[in-house]
Order: sequence, then C-alpha cells, then structure tokens
Amino acid sequence: MDANGMVPFLDLKAQYEALKDEIGAAVTKTLASGEYVLGSEVSAFEEEFAEYVGARFAIGVNSGTSALHLALLAAGVGPGDEVITVSCTFVATVAAIDYTGARPVFVDVDPETLNMDVTQVEAALTERTKALLPVHLHGHPAALDPLLDIARRNNLVVIEDAAQAHGAEYQGRRVGGIGDLGCFSFYPGKNLGACGEAGMVVTNTERYAHAIRKLRDWGQERKYHHVLKGFNYRMEGLQGAILRVKLRHLDAWTDARIRHAATYQDLLDGSGVRTPVEMPDARHVYHVYAVRTSKRDSVREKLQATGVQTGIHYPIPVHLQKAYEHLGHVPGDLPVTEKAAQELLSLPMFPELQLKQLESVARAVREALHGE
Ligand SMILES: *Cc1c(COP(=O)(O)O)cnc(C)c1O
Repeated sequence: MDANGMVPFLDLKAQYEALKDEIGAAVTKTLASGEYVLGSEVSAFEEEFAEYVGARFAIGVNSGTSALHLALLAAGVGPGDEVITVSCTFVATVAAIDYTGARPVFVDVDPETLNMDVTQVEAALTERTKALLPVHLHGHPAALDPLLDIARRNNLVVIEDAAQAHGAEYQGRRVGGIGDLGCFSFYPGKNLGACGEAGMVVTNTERYAHAIRKLRDWGQERKYHHVLKGFNYRMEGLQGAILRVKLRHLDAWTDARIRHAATYQDLLDGSGVRTPVEMPDARHVYHVYAVRTSKRDSVREKLQATGVQTGIHYPIPVHLQKAYEHLGHVPGDLPVTEKAAQELLSLPMFPELQLKQLESVARAVREALHGE
C-alpha cells in the first residue's frame, strides 16, 4: 500500500525506479549515438526479442496496432477479404483489419478462456476469408492448434495478436511465433513496456519479414526507392534501447505476476467471484487479472471507495461500438462476449505488488460481496 492506503491498478513509476540506472545509461548512450529512428539498438532488440519468442525474424515498429496492420498487409489481406477475429478484445485488433479495407468477421469466445471459440470458426468461413486473427486475451494463449489446423485446410494465414501475452506459452512454446505472424505491443502498461509507443511483428517466414521491413519504412528497398506503398511505422532508437534493458527483466516480472495470480486465487477462494482459468496446455502471463461477477459495477464502486483501483477490459465489445456499427451487429449477436463485458473486473496486477496489497484487494472484494 502506498502512503494513502491506496492500491493502484498499475504502477509504472515503481518499475522505472528499480531500473533507473540501467535505463539512464541506455538512454544516454542512444542520445549520444545520434541513432534516433531505427538504428543499432532497434536491430539488437529485434534479434533479442526474436530469440526470446523463438521466431526467426522480428521487425520493430512504432505500436502494436502498426504491427497488426503490417502483418495483415504482408499476409496479402486487402479490400474484399474477410478476417475472422473476436470482438472480446481491445479495439486495435479490429481497427487494424479495417485499415486494410478487409471486413472483420466476429466469432464468439470460449466462456472459460474468453479466447476465440474454435468450434465457431468453420461456420464463419467464406470464399473471401483470408486470415484468422486470434487474441491471447489478458495473457492467456488462444487454442492455436485447432486454429492452425483449420487454416492449413483452408489456405488461411494465422496472425496472433500477442499484444497482451509476452512470454505466454501454448503447449510449451512461446506465443507469437506459433502462427504465421505474431504481433506484440510495448505500450507502457503492457507486460514489456516502452517509455512511449512501440510494437513488434515476429514471423518465421522470410518473405513476410522482408515485406514488413519495407512497409514500416515508406516501402523503401533502399533510400528513396519506394517499391511498395509504405508507412512511417518505424521504431524509435530510444525505445529499442530501453526495451533491451527491460527484456532482461521480463521473465522475473512474469514470474511475479504468476505468483500474484496464485495468491489472488487462494485469497479469493469462496469469495463469490470467478477467478481466471489457466488451461492445462497454457502458461497464462496475467497481463490482466480479471475476475468475473454479476455484481461487477457495485463491487467496483465499493473497491474504489476503499482505495482499490480496478479496470474493465473491456466494457463495450467492439461489435457494439459506434465506430463499427456499419458491420451491422446488434446486442445478442455474441452472447458470451457480451456477458463477459458486463461481468469482467480487472484487479490490480503488476510485478511490484506487495503481499499486503494483494490481501487488501482480496479483503475489499470479500467485503464488497458479503459485507453489507
Ligand atoms: C494494446 C493492444 C493492441 C494495440 O497495441 P498498441 O501498441 O497500443 O497500438 C492490440 N491488441 C491488443 C489485444 C492490445 O491489448
């Protein structure tokens, strides 16, 4: 607990304080180098991150959204195509599909993991389907094997939205490099966060890597030779340098998140909230620790009153957002997704959380549900 007895939802300053000297040295070195956009720190981070994920190639970009956009373009997705994805996600997943001119096609999610319900995918296929875009929501891997199987049989590309799942494992392999392309975000609050915006595409397919390297930098093959209609999606040198420092701590941070999740699970046993599941073939990395309760809004208010900050990931599913009303959805189209949006409550989760804080959160949850 901090001085006011508050438990913050997230504490980015605590992480910075612990790494101040290392980050300071990396920043000073980069500033002195003059390599402010791409450059040697970004290349080194790309190599280190590719190795971390277990993929052959990693291409640094300026956000997770850009990573998704370029992965889709590299896969050949464009106007007239359909991409099967989920609505139970952050809006960026769907926005990236929309940027390409393709149509996002939603399937509902599994009620346990809240990831793409693989049993619904085949019914959603049409001759226009080009790709599957599952999300590893909250840090729990989607069921990739059945999806890869459907993709192989139907000549589809699988793009993993791993923006919340750095270090998550599916059947013992790190996510991102299991599908054809994997997309990561290094937004500050993610499990591996930059001091600003950054993202990464990973792949084992050389031609995708080559295309994405060009697309992120104005479609240039060499300077001023624009062979593709590209973008300014380059990663900054400072972010590469800082992310290299932080990558060395990621495993310890992930272990701490997993320990906190286990502690929450014990402390919340019998409290009346549903705690998140971890499938037997999965390693959940708890980017978000989301419990479920039908009394979500009142629990959230009571926690707020006792100084426990919480979040909701996400209160309105993408298919019911005004920005995507042209897709023609109405409430009831995706019942599991819609119910989750009403019940999910994200509790404080970050590596530096202390046992006392976890205990205060759990006590506040119990009191909110049983205290009156
Ligand atoms: C954060 C996030 C993104 C977008 O990443 P940015 O770096 O913020 O652009 C995409 N998908 C999911 C599931 C996310 O959580």
